Amino acid sequence: MKKISLLIPVYNEEASLDALYPALCPLLDNSHPGLMGAQYEWEVIFVDDGSTDLSLKKLKELNSYDRRFRYVSLSRNFGKENALLAGFDRASGDAMVIMDADLQHPVDVIPEMIRQWEEGWEDVYGRRLSRGKESIFRRLFTKAYYALLNKSTRVDVLPNVGDFRLLDRKVVDAISGLRESQRYTKGLYCWVGFKKTGIDFQTADRAAGETHMSAGRLLNLALEGITSYTTAPLRIATVLGFIISLMAIAYMIYIVCKTLIYGEPIQGFPTIICAILFLGGCQLLALGIIGEYIGKIYNESKHRPAYIVGEESDPADKPTHQPNDTQP
Ligand code: UDP
Ligand code: MG
Repeated sequence: MKKISLLIPVYNEEASLDALYPALCPLLDNSHPGLMGAQYEWEVIFVDDGSTDLSLKKLKELNSYDRRFRYVSLSRNFGKENALLAGFDRASGDAMVIMDADLQHPVDVIPEMIRQWEEGWEDVYGRRLSRGKESIFRRLFTKAYYALLNKSTRVDVLPNVGDFRLLDRKVVDAISGLRESQRYTKGLYCWVGFKKTGIDFQTADRAAGETHMSAGRLLNLALEGITSYTTAPLRIATVLGFIISLMAIAYMIYIVCKTLIYGEPIQGFPTIICAILFLGGCQLLALGIIGEYIGKIYNESKHRPAYIVGEESDPADKPTHQPNDTQP
């Protein structure tokens, strides 16, 4: 029987977990109508990303009730991208489905993903038709960001496609082989290649709680995306520097000629200030861009692990689920 792993990152989701369990049950019992009678062995890997609420306690309860619910708890909050890697390293299924704990990713789409996988697709991604409750700012920012990202790279990152997807074993192995500790998983899916197809879905509103992706966190992720995916900004800095130098030389020649022909009354303070400010700004911008990349080199050269495990369920656990057990 083929085995399917569900990977669910959890960060302070104690309220959502209550709703998640009943939503997953039809799949795990192979009784979901979308499966059309197909039988799979299931495993659920929760990665507790340093939650400070009762999430871990709930995960342990789930695990003691049904050993197919495994958990790995990171020693602190490492961020969703790194939490995902911890799950990639532990999934043992022939395929793995990644979904959020807040039920924004509808469980009913998973059987369709599995069908596409059975037809030979290796990366079946969910494409958001609507984005659920979100601020206008986040919506506009996302749109502009993908336009910019895809202009600057050769491998396109698909817009409106997130981490809700099914990956074949081959893709899981390929991605867990990429050990950078500053991760941009959305870019990695595209970078590793493999046969991809998409399924549309409607993003639901959060089951409970608030989003953890504040504007600052999103901005960080966005910068991570660009700098870990492309060196185009460095090239832009070079080209910009080159163009400005050419302009400066042309202006210099003009000034010299003008002075030789007409002489120079002491004037030109505004010109000098403008030139200094403009060039200073360009230099700072270029330095900042270079600094971003040097920072990345510095961080990666430390070879720190992308995450540290605090505790985890016994990986050798065997399923002990009894259909008549009461829900925890
Ligand atoms: N998450 C995580 N670590 C974090 C932030 C979020 O593991 O530092 C998980 C969170 O529990 C959820 C998923 O990542 O399962 C998506 O997070 P969220 O719903 O807050 O983001 P949004 O859906 O608003 O982009
Ligand atoms: Mg969410």
